[in-house]
Amino acid sequence: MDAIEVFENSIKAYKLTTKNFGNNIDLKRALFLGWYCNLTDPCKFCFMSSQKSKIKNPSIARRRPESMLAEAIIMKRIGWKLEFISGGYDYNTNELNDIIEMIAHIQKSKQYINVGIVDFENLNLDTIEGVVGAIETVNPNLHNELCPQKPIEPTKEMLLKAKDYNLKTGITIILGLGEKEEDIEELLNLIEELNLDRITFYSLNPQKNTIFEGAPSITTIEYMNWVSSVRLNFPKLEIITGTWVDKLTNIGPLVMSGANTITKFPLFSMYGKKEGITVENEIKSTGRELISSFSDIEALQGKKKLNTPQYIDENINISDKNLEILSALENDINKKVDMYVSKTLKRINKN
Ligand code: SF4
Repeated sequence: MDAIEVFENSIKAYKLTTKNFGNNIDLKRALFLGWYCNLTDPCKFCFMSSQKSKIKNPSIARRRPESMLAEAIIMKRIGWKLEFISGGYDYNTNELNDIIEMIAHIQKSKQYINVGIVDFENLNLDTIEGVVGAIETVNPNLHNELCPQKPIEPTKEMLLKAKDYNLKTGITIILGLGEKEEDIEELLNLIEELNLDRITFYSLNPQKNTIFEGAPSITTIEYMNWVSSVRLNFPKLEIITGTWVDKLTNIGPLVMSGANTITKFPLFSMYGKKEGITVENEIKSTGRELISSFSDIEALQGKKKLNTPQYIDENINISDKNLEILSALENDINKKVDMYVSKTLKRINKN
């Protein structure tokens, strides 16, 4: 890798992004259905793999609907789109339909999902914008070793099939698993083969009790190399880049390399605090305009409406049964919203 070339490519990638997407950057967040994955041989980097032996009753590891729906309300208030609705391999299509319908209804917005291999025939596609396949790494040997029960081929088939249903498609890639620079070419080929609409990069956040515990991160310049290479080859692809609390200062360079969106934050523990404001400043320092908030208290409380062009209200038709459930849950959802907001405010005031 030639660092000077990476910076030169990043400048081109930044300009290309401006040309195709304008000057806006937003924040996104995955909404998790639970903390359990039923794969018997889970992916070796995954937080859920480290929890599996501790979870005796998987149903307890599922989130309650009011908690997910409250989170969906707050995300809309602060202008964060849900990157996707995600969970381990543990949900049947009826369960998915119910929760996706309710979230889409509450947000007035169709959703991306990242829930393993999808049963298109039985999924309520009226509430789905797109489907994400968790590819994780394009290096075949690494993939076989790290994701023994999640082969790439069925995911590719699913993403190709999604296009037949007029759904958008995306993949997730984790950097820092041991991939090589040469693998970038493999990724470019995959994006082209699948005609993807978006890609999400994450920088591995090494989890305790996995083989990656204590592993170093990839460098910011390596990360820029992957992102700018994708941008230069796919000017119109949505590029989402994930970071973590210990890597906030790579946000500016990632935006400079062609990212459209930043993701992967412990939202409620950072909002309004120096970490959240650092994210905002990192983005603003690139000359981009941030159209989500990581610090606006009135927006968090629902007292002020942000200008959020990323949320265009859509007509979402859901079953009468789920409308009734939403109505029955209204008080519980509101209580949860208040709880999330007050906990966040307490954390801010502690500083
Ligand atoms: S399939 Fe997803 S949730 Fe399950 S172990 Fe692999 S990465 Fe984790």
